[in-house]
This record gives sequence, structure tokens and C-alpha cells, in this order.
Amino acid sequence: MFSELFQFPPGKEGFFGQFGGAFIPEILHETLAELRTSFEAAYRDPAFWDEYVQLMSTYSCRPTPITFCENLTRLQGGARIYIKREDLNHTGAHKANNVMGQGLLVKRMGKGRVIAETGAGQHGVATATMAAKLGLQCTIYMGAEDVERQRPNVFWMEQLGATVVSVEDGTRTLKDAINAALRDWAESMADTHYVLGTVCGPHPFPLMVTWFQSLIGKEARAQMLELTGALPKRVYACVGGGSNASGIFAGFLDDKDVELVGVEAGGLGLQSGSHAARIAGGQGSVGVAQGYKTFFMQDAEGQMRDTHSISAGLDYIGIGPILAWLHEQKRVRFEAATDAEVISAFKTTVRSEGLIPALESAHAIARALQESATLSPRDGILINLSGRGDKDIFTIAAALGDERWYDFLRNKVNDHDRKSKK
Ligand SMILES: *Cc1c(COP(=O)(O)O)cnc(C)c1O
Repeated sequence: MFSELFQFPPGKEGFFGQFGGAFIPEILHETLAELRTSFEAAYRDPAFWDEYVQLMSTYSCRPTPITFCENLTRLQGGARIYIKREDLNHTGAHKANNVMGQGLLVKRMGKGRVIAETGAGQHGVATATMAAKLGLQCTIYMGAEDVERQRPNVFWMEQLGATVVSVEDGTRTLKDAINAALRDWAESMADTHYVLGTVCGPHPFPLMVTWFQSLIGKEARAQMLELTGALPKRVYACVGGGSNASGIFAGFLDDKDVELVGVEAGGLGLQSGSHAARIAGGQGSVGVAQGYKTFFMQDAEGQMRDTHSISAGLDYIGIGPILAWLHEQKRVRFEAATDAEVISAFKTTVRSEGLIPALESAHAIARALQESATLSPRDGILINLSGRGDKDIFTIAAALGDERWYDFLRNKVNDHDRKSKK
């Protein structure tokens, strides 16, 4: 089933059932056609994949290990709990896999410049890192609001040699940064590649990013067999755009007995309307936006709704079209975890395993812990720990109501603001 995804027929190209496609303005046709051709050639060239794996194993800690969580298992008293450690990647998350893969493809295409847009900043830092390593020019578009909120990330992007453009248009957030990046691309595409951060957007991005991220699932399947002598009963991953989930699920798509569970942001609860559970919440509907067809959080008129999540990485209106299709095929089960459940799972994981999960990843953990108690110790379950939680220090301190630390951390930032304004 995984290899079935990779068909390149003209016409229906880029569709997975009714989802996906490439709904793009005329001006981008040529550059996306070029990207499709280069991606297909790279996909068919085993030397390209070998070069990618080699780079990731010497630069980003691959293969990332699988950790048996003995303490969590004892605490829950059900299935044995295993965690795939994507938090050990360079820059702290699975995002490294995607950007390094696209970077190698850019080199192969002979282009010298990359652009990207970023909201919380993680994808911007990962892209700037790749550009530094591979010797590419790099411009990152960021809404002016986000530049204010994410100064540490802006600092690192600049140190890495990227030009960070603070976008003052509109609401000064991610949406406006995307528009600015697209304007840049329309003028610069002869020498510039747009590094998309997840399995969304027009074809070939969903398929291409899934392919790079499938390294997670390929490793994980072999590691579970070696470590436990069996495949896991279930695999859990959080779903923002869907790249870490697509990546780990890809390794198990053909294993019919392995249940795949995608966990979306339940925010303040599915009844509250403040969440980003496009599928599990039953409130997303099928539409076309941002170059592709999928489930979006939109109103009856097709206006995009505001979404909410405690984690910036899951707060997204669309979902990868391949995942939407796998939902329709009943191959992936979608669930949601609320902000409160996520904080609780976070606390449990830190204390019992000494792991500091990103709040995104803690969604997968929250759901897995709820379900694991109902399974047998003969069953192993696997959770994708998409990234580490250092970046979430303010959000977590605030959510824990730990004023001592929250005030201390905030004061440090305010002190700095006062000094730098002088
Ligand atoms: C960006 C991010 C996500 C969400 O992106 P996906 O494309 O859904 O994987 C999840 N976890 C972490 C740690 C992230 O940084």
C-alpha cells in the first residue's frame, strides 16, 4: 500500500482518492512540473536515498533509537510502551528529515536558494540549518507578530545566515508570511525552491515530504522486530499538517494488523469549538485551499475558522491529503487530545521517564496512555516522540500554574526588552 502511493501517471497525478491535487496559479505550473520531474527521478534513483540516509546518520543522529518505557508501562499496567525518539534529531524534531531531504533535491536540481515561511519558528530554524550545511542562500518569511513572539528562533536563523523577513501585511501572522513567500517564489523560481514544512500544499509536496519522513517508519518497523520480535499492535502519532504521522505510519501501512492512530489537537474540548481536530472533531469539511483538496476547518461559506491548540505545531486548518485519504479508507483512526489531557500526559512522561516531550508529541502520548491500560502486556504499542519540549518552556510553566518559574522566565525576557530599548 505504501508503494502504491508512488504512482506517477499524468492526469490524476497527485490525487489520493478525492484528496490532494495541485490547484495552483498558472505562474507556478512550470516550477512545480520541474519539481515533480526531479522528485520522480530522485525517487527512482537508489543512490539518492542512500545519500539521504548517509547524511542523516552523520548529521542528525539517525537511526534514532526506540526506548522501552518501563516505568510508564508499570504505571499504566497494560501494553508495553515504546517510544520512537525523533526528539534526538538535530534541531530537536522530525522536521530535520524533511528539510535535509528537500535540500539534497535542491542541490540535484542545481538551484542555489531556498525560501520558507514559519509560524512558531521551528521550521524556519530547521530550513536555515539545512541551508548553512548545504551552502544555499536562505530567506525565511515570518509574520511580524510571530517575529516578536519567537525572538530566540529569529536570532538563530540569523546566526545561521538566513535573511528573516518580518511581514507587516494583514494580521502579521503565518497566513501573511505564506503570501509573501509565494510572491517571492513567483519572481525567483528559476533559482529558488520553496521548502514546505509538512505533507500539505500542492502535489508533489504531500508525497515528497511523506517519502522523506518515511525514514522514521522504515527504521521503527525494523527496530520493533529486533527489539521485541513482533510488530507493535498500535502506532500513535500527533497530527498537525501530518508529516511525523505520515512518516511513521508509512513503515506500517502494509501491515494490516498494526492499527495506526493519528491524534489531533482537541484544544479546549471538541464541544468548545476551540480546537484543530479537523477529522476527529467531525467539524472539518472537504474543500480546496492553499493549493490542495482536503479537510479544512472552515465555515459553510468556505471561510477558514480560527483554530486553537496549546501547541503551535498542531494549530493548523488543513490536514495532509494522504492522511485524509487513509482516514476515508479506514486505515488510520483519528482521535483528539485536549490541552488539559496533554499537560497531564506531559507531567507523567517527564517524571516517570525523564523525557521532555514537545507539547505536540504529548498529544500522541496522552491518547496512547489512555488506551494502553485496556491492552494486554503481550501487546507492544509505539508512540512517535516527534520532538523535544525545550521550546515550550513558557507555555508549560504557564499551564502548570507555576508562577515562581513563569514570573522568573518572563522577567528575564522583560529585562532584556527594557535594556535593548534603551
Ligand atoms: C512541527 C511539529 C509537529 C507538527 O507537524 P506535523 O507535520 O504534523 O508532524 C509535531 N511535532 C513537533 C515536535 C513539531 O515540531
